[in-house]
Amino acid sequence: MAINKPKGTEDLLGEDALTWVYVRDVAESVFTSYGFKYLEVPMFEQVDVFVHGLGTATDVVRKEMFSVYSPDGYAKISEGRADELKPDQRLALRPEATAGTVRAVVEHNLLEQGGAPVRLWYAGSMFRAERPQKGRLREFRQIGAECFGTADPAADAEVIIMFMRFIEQLQLPRESVRLLINSMGDDQCRPAYRESVAAYMREHKDELCEECQRRIETNPLRAFDCKNEACHKIMEDAPRITDALCDDCKAHYEQVKHYLDSQGIRYEEDPRLVRGLDYYTRTVFEVQVTDGLGAQNAIGGGGRYDKLVETIGGKPTPALGFASGFERIALALEAANAPLPVPAKPDVYVAVAGSEVSAASFDLVQKLRDNGFIVECDRQNRSLKSQFKLADKCEATTVLVLGPDELAQGVVTLRDMLTHDQKTIAFADVIQELEHVLGYDEDHDHECCCEDDDHECCCDHNEA
Ligand SMILES: [Zn+2]
Ligand SMILES: [Zn+2]
Repeated sequence: MAINKPKGTEDLLGEDALTWVYVRDVAESVFTSYGFKYLEVPMFEQVDVFVHGLGTATDVVRKEMFSVYSPDGYAKISEGRADELKPDQRLALRPEATAGTVRAVVEHNLLEQGGAPVRLWYAGSMFRAERPQKGRLREFRQIGAECFGTADPAADAEVIIMFMRFIEQLQLPRESVRLLINSMGDDQCRPAYRESVAAYMREHKDELCEECQRRIETNPLRAFDCKNEACHKIMEDAPRITDALCDDCKAHYEQVKHYLDSQGIRYEEDPRLVRGLDYYTRTVFEVQVTDGLGAQNAIGGGGRYDKLVETIGGKPTPALGFASGFERIALALEAANAPLPVPAKPDVYVAVAGSEVSAASFDLVQKLRDNGFIVECDRQNRSLKSQFKLADKCEATTVLVLGPDELAQGVVTLRDMLTHDQKTIAFADVIQELEHVLGYDEDHDHECCCEDDDHECCCDHNEA
């Protein structure tokens, strides 16, 4: 019986694997310039980290977490003694990385009194037991960043701008990207707002879906996210948070917008933008793409979560961050025809004619790789003809042939796969000759001829 990958997972192969590395590299280069340091937190944590971090009313915690048990813990579960599990035996695969990052910041005491803000970013797999669909997997990859220790609206604007620069660097066309922002208020103003939304929903209870009827008492603001058409219509006319913000929240929000304006960042205010998780305060944002993703069009989002650090056992600490979904970014890049990395072609293919030159060819291949060339070599003792075919197939334009005659004379044959021209090179000259043939020895400091117009240029620096 063939064994298949689990439902809702993907093998990252070929260009998809390259795209993941590429998107992560772009994130690293942008985030580093904003002072963010890379971290990795465990793939699984105590369930309590997520329960405290995300709230028990969220779908993620209620029904989407994969539990992890040690054999000991599993035995207790299967014997119906789940209540005997200690907290460190109740584990779950991370459904997101913010809670774990906060746990790490608290555990390692990274927030010194009077110290600078702590800026961290991560990239990796997250796990949710959802029904798999396009752009939504059970193991999916996220890239995100978190900033701890400042309540200043400039920090909110910086994080949003950093995310937009990341998207720009990936060359997603700006006209197909929407940045939505909102403020969700704070402890001073949100409870009253939340109650006014709940009261409004009670008036329309019969028209709401079952899930939203339940949300009235548990988490009314999540009804803004409901995909049900009827709920969506009713929530259109619900009270708006922007009308309910206290003076401090209003001033904070105005400052964030002012900083975005000052950098020419285009955004749309969306008073119905409510992040699904309980811990958000004040600024929230979401970035959507208009092409290629259908209904699952958000490629990233985040906001401020000033209450989260104390929820996970730290001192009260203002903080904010975002996460973005790699799979959706990849779909958007593809839909936008954005430039993506392609697999590297070999510089040279080494063809081996006969087993008596195996050892010498092994030395040659290693020497070439140690000098920085990308080298392919068939190790299956095929005929020269089929090795040339393989060289063509992997798009090597240069082949070095080593056979008994060459070995006896201390040379290799260099074959140009495009012209089929061949020449003989002494062992000692192979590196230099290859650098020349492949154009790696060009003197880039020479006076370039492309100062003149209309001629064929000797270098390719002006092609872009
Ligand atoms: Zn609903
Ligand atoms: Zn407020």
